Amino acid sequence: MIVLKFGGTSVGDAEAIARTGRIVSTRVDQGAVVVVSALAGVTNALIALAEQAAKGHLIGALGAVEALRARHMEQATLLLGEGERATETIAELSAMADELAHLAEALATLGDLTPRSLDAIASFGEKMSSLLCVAAFQQQGIPAVHVDACTVMITDATFTRAEPHPDAIADACRQSVLPLVRDGKVPVLGGFIGSSEVTGITTTLGRGGSDFSASLFGAAMRADAIEIWTDVDGMLTADPRVVPESKVLEQIAFDEAAELASFGAKVLHPNTIAPAVRLGIPVYVLNSRRPEGKGTKITFEAPKRAVTAIAGKNDVTLIKVGSPRMLLTEGFLRSLFDVFERHRTSVDVVATSEVSVSLTVDEVSQIDVIVSDLRRLGDVTLERNRGIVAVVGGAIALGGHAMSRALEAIGDVRVHMLSLSATGINLTMVVDDDQVQPAMRRLHAAFFGGRAS
Ligand code: ADP
Ligand code: ASP
Ligand code: MG
Repeated sequence: MIVLKFGGTSVGDAEAIARTGRIVSTRVDQGAVVVVSALAGVTNALIALAEQAAKGHLIGALGAVEALRARHMEQATLLLGEGERATETIAELSAMADELAHLAEALATLGDLTPRSLDAIASFGEKMSSLLCVAAFQQQGIPAVHVDACTVMITDATFTRAEPHPDAIADACRQSVLPLVRDGKVPVLGGFIGSSEVTGITTTLGRGGSDFSASLFGAAMRADAIEIWTDVDGMLTADPRVVPESKVLEQIAFDEAAELASFGAKVLHPNTIAPAVRLGIPVYVLNSRRPEGKGTKITFEAPKRAVTAIAGKNDVTLIKVGSPRMLLTEGFLRSLFDVFERHRTSVDVVATSEVSVSLTVDEVSQIDVIVSDLRRLGDVTLERNRGIVAVVGGAIALGGHAMSRALEAIGDVRVHMLSLSATGINLTMVVDDDQVQPAMRRLHAAFFGGRAS
């Protein structure tokens, strides 16, 4: 059995959904479970309308709801024409838009946007897209059945970035997804959304989380493969939006893919790899606009290259904690990392010296409390507007000249911090935010050829 996940652009409009249906129909015989994202741009629109409503701009928020209603209904009409299926689907989509409008009104009255209500609103993208896709697939003759992802993706109650509960997900899949597959049906679920195990209230897995949903479902059902269908030919040697000359990687190791995803390769949600790796399920990244392409295969065995790809991400915060007295005393680092764990903020890159520890974080919602807790340990400085470039390769640290070439290539770009992961697979450099893209281009040119600027 295969889990196929289609991202926002792969279900962005009627034409894309029809193309997606054609891909699904080639997989029905193997057993297929489909996970879909919201239509491209819908999650952003939902979050924006929630913020607008909570600020009291109800008319604007309701206008946005109507635009979403119209967009989904228009695509439904294009896909389904007229008839019972079209009427039913349009009525269901419209009822969802009504529900969304009520939520927006409630938010405008409350004047406050909690993570819980943000998830309630953001979940509508996948709720609507999964309904639309099921109807479209059925219209194409696929035995598709809708499964409400909230009943299967069981999580904790950390709204906007919920932690999945794999055992509960596996139980739910055994009960309500696998029997459908055994019956020759194609279950279709929304990605990204779930519900709290204790309260049943809607949660989400964080932005870009549909990839993670697909891999969690794949692991829960012991799938033979997980296919991530997107708008590029696979995982490339760099983000093609930054480096147009980047090339498709036919095969890449799980650990390299995980590093690339964590350091900005948005093509995969950073958590996607972990559930698959535990069971050795291969993950493929494929282009839904060019399904005949081979895409990228992510597995344990992959050719060991000094440098496999370059990634980069913006909006990183660098924190330096200086504590000449305490740094090397026992327990100092533990107390330091405890602070981040307590505030559920993950640290990306770390470097230590005799008198200070430098680290980077992405997530700054808890930064004020983190800084105040860190001040108990030493002097704290915070540098915003930083970015990270990462040179990832399974053999980067094994002899060769990869490191010296990387440093030479970035030339006069100022490096605030440098770190080579212990596994020797990732060389990360913290640079000024506006230097991330130039640095990526220079590094790519040095390792893969092409233009440096
Ligand atoms: P989806 O909506 O299908 O989930 P995303 O927009 O989340 O798609 O991810 C696909 C995008 O990831 C591509 O359009 C590309 O710009 C970006 N990307 C970043 N780094 C890479 C990389 N190394 N290889 C491929 N794509 C990448
Ligand atoms: N629709 C969600 C988002 O835009 C999840 C996803 O597309 O993976 O973040
Ligand atoms: Mg994505």
